[in-house]
Amino acid sequence: MDFGFTESQRMFRDSIREFLDKEIAPLVDEQEKKGPMSREEALAVLKKFRKIGVGFDVESMSDMGSDPIAIAILAEESFRVWPAAAGLLGLTFPAALVNIAPDDMRRRLLPKLKENELIGCYAITEPEAGSDNRSMRTNAIPDGDFYRVNGTKTWITNGPVADLCMLVANDEKGERIFLLVEREQSPYQTSDLHKLGWKAAPTGELHFEDCLVPIENNMMNMIAAAATGDRLKEIMGEDFDPARLARSRLMTMMSTMAPENVIFAFLRSGMALAAAGMAQAALDAAVKFARERSQFGKPIGRMQLIQEKLFNMQALTVTSRLLGYWAFQLAINADPEARMASSLAKGYACEAAVQVASDAIQIHGGIGLSDEYPLERYFRDARMLTIPDGTTEIQKLIVGRELLGKGFAAYS
Ligand SMILES: Cc1cc2nc3c(=O)[nH]c(=O)nc-3n(C[C@H](O)[C@H](O)[C@H](O)COP(=O)(O)OP(=O)(O)OC[C@H]3O[C@@H](n4cnc5c(N)ncnc54)[C@H](O)[C@@H]3O)c2cc1C
Repeated sequence: MDFGFTESQRMFRDSIREFLDKEIAPLVDEQEKKGPMSREEALAVLKKFRKIGVGFDVESMSDMGSDPIAIAILAEESFRVWPAAAGLLGLTFPAALVNIAPDDMRRRLLPKLKENELIGCYAITEPEAGSDNRSMRTNAIPDGDFYRVNGTKTWITNGPVADLCMLVANDEKGERIFLLVEREQSPYQTSDLHKLGWKAAPTGELHFEDCLVPIENNMMNMIAAAATGDRLKEIMGEDFDPARLARSRLMTMMSTMAPENVIFAFLRSGMALAAAGMAQAALDAAVKFARERSQFGKPIGRMQLIQEKLFNMQALTVTSRLLGYWAFQLAINADPEARMASSLAKGYACEAAVQVASDAIQIHGGIGLSDEYPLERYFRDARMLTIPDGTTEIQKLIVGRELLGKGFAAYS
């Protein structure tokens, strides 16, 4: 078992850190004070990431995908600097479906995708269906060449500014389907939500009222159409080997797990790494302050109770990081334990980040509570982590179900 990064992973991490400190960190304070990014502001952030090759077109994804740990490193490092921007980037992932979209959509949107000019969102939560998302009511009923969509989604990251939405709905048989909804072609209304942390991240409700979405935008239809004949080669380039894709770990995972559980295995291990990055930012600030601040004639870092706090913060942060990379690696390997591991990592690391951020405030004394320092933002941002992508309680129940077996699910 190797707990360290390879040389090239370390180089990637260092270059990401340099990019984040130079290009992203200077934007944080002003935008966090201003509130949710407008579409233009969000696109400006995504275009910065494009400069370092981070995007959702085939070329960028295969560059990043050549070592998927790079994606995990990106999650940890970008959340360390600015959770709102990191969430914007991460939740744009449904835009990747443009790569295998019907010809007409690809013609229109691929140039934008290549320039990071498309924003995506993933919509499953509803006002009456949060943890219990199986009770969702949004429906998509076939009507000629379209699905007619009705329903409301809530708490959708990027929702108000997204061009494309990966929408989860029930079809006419009550079965769950995934639709790629292009807002310009299939208009729907949005409204903003304001929240405790991640203040610059646009979050909102989506309202679908007789919204018509082409049948071919059903994700499963898109995958099936792309898989036929030479379509994949057209999309992925001449060197693409469909047999290799069929044997790939992702395909194994898709065939053994429900699609939302595959998505959640990656999202949750990514959230654990996000939490580790955010905890690290708070810990770094606390260490720096403990060296600099003196009371009773000596630096507070020499007080044993402060060192005990630092011990606990370091243990929580390192454990979160190890759990996060472990779970992410299991997801990459399409390991059957990925579901349990990602819930364990997410549940642990998100609570740990709240504790670390709180201890960092304590070490700073009064100025830890002042908005002149980033500590209060670290705390508000960390507090956001324990709800999205499944609350801590739900992660505990998933781990319980995975350890004990199907008959023991406490959440159904
Ligand atoms: C900032 C933010 C961003 C988000 N982004 C997205 C997004 O991009 N897309 C999306 O679809 N959703 C998103 N969500 C929604 C998120 O996934 C839900 O908020 C979450 O699943 C919880 O649902 P709920 O808020 O309805 O709480 P509820 O499910 O109503 O839960 C309320 C409380 O009851 C507890 N509870 C529920 N069931 C049980 C049980 N069986 N046993 C014990 N306790 C239980 C919960 O843990 C919680 O403490 C986001 C949420 C936030 C806050």
